[in-house]
Amino acid sequence: MEKRVFDFSPGPAVLPVSALQEAQRNLVAMPGVGISILEISHRSATFTEIIEKTEANLRKLLNIPEGYQVLFLQGGAHLQFAMVPMNLLRGKGKSADFVVTGTWGKKALPEAQREGKARVAWDGKATNFSRVPKDSELDLDKDAAYVHITSNETIQGVQFQTEPAVGNVPLVCDSSSDFLHRPLPVDKYGIIYACAQKNLGPAGVTVVVIRDDLVAQSPEELSPMLNYKVMAEGKSLYNTAPTFGIYMVKLVTDWLLNDIGGLDKMHAINKQKANLLYDVIDGSSGFYDGHAEPASRSLMNVTFRLPDPEMEKKFVDGAAKRDLHSLKGHRSVGGFRASIYNAMPMEGVERLAEFMTEFAKQNG
Ligand SMILES: *Cc1c(COP(=O)(O)O)cnc(C)c1O
Repeated sequence: MEKRVFDFSPGPAVLPVSALQEAQRNLVAMPGVGISILEISHRSATFTEIIEKTEANLRKLLNIPEGYQVLFLQGGAHLQFAMVPMNLLRGKGKSADFVVTGTWGKKALPEAQREGKARVAWDGKATNFSRVPKDSELDLDKDAAYVHITSNETIQGVQFQTEPAVGNVPLVCDSSSDFLHRPLPVDKYGIIYACAQKNLGPAGVTVVVIRDDLVAQSPEELSPMLNYKVMAEGKSLYNTAPTFGIYMVKLVTDWLLNDIGGLDKMHAINKQKANLLYDVIDGSSGFYDGHAEPASRSLMNVTFRLPDPEMEKKFVDGAAKRDLHSLKGHRSVGGFRASIYNAMPMEGVERLAEFMTEFAKQNG
């Protein structure tokens, strides 16, 4: 087998090796089935078992209560930017509140404005998207149709540590880049959505966890493909579901349950991994300039800059020599970003921390 490197890409991103290996073993012929997951009907007994097991895994990991549907949709997080307001805002005469903590929240807002009124309840622009707001800073409309947050801003590396208090207004969360990184009090949310390709599986499937009373709000005139109610009634099989993506989500959630031992354990490991890098940043006497304020730091995307842009190439080259790849930050933030999702092994983060320490010593 070709050697694997440590790749810190923000997404599509690293997957557990055991899940990749199982998919590889079964790719030509699944045991007892004789054909590939890529070749079976989405309405076959085999796939029905796979999608039901995937949902059961998610329900177990997140302790999803009764009264919530788990949907497997397509179109990524971008389609959810549009689908949420189509279903919850269109024709309702209400407004939606947006907490804008970075690039993705900013991108979700205009999609709601196509469907109705949407206002900004807080904007991190003034502080260069380096933190999440305190509850007391939120300017919330108590009659809003929903409040939209981005639990983890993938590009800036800022993350809500707990849910903001939004009263009785449904909380809608783009959890694309931190879904399943810790246990969640699901009952505090109206909708949690996540494209798979950050922390969950391959691109092509999007998980939506949605409360029943919100499913019931979908306007009749919506195209069925954009209608939560139709998708829920069809158990995500109204159309041909992204079968391979769902299968991979099953393997990844099997790994979380059986190899990791659940989300409390995963959260502890994630904190340990992130601390390795933040400790290097904090101990570097300012050589590494962390983008996020400490209280808003992400456990998934660690963002930092070097004192001098000329040093950036040297950093990239040195990292590559140690098989550490895809560290360059998004152009809007600059510097570097280490995406250390659930599946990034501890060894990869340790190796990056060692390299960063060494690099600061030699160049600081
Ligand atoms: C990657 C990402 C998106 C965009 O996902 P697509 O699947 O490309 O639509 C949206 N929100 C967050 C938080 C992301 O990390």
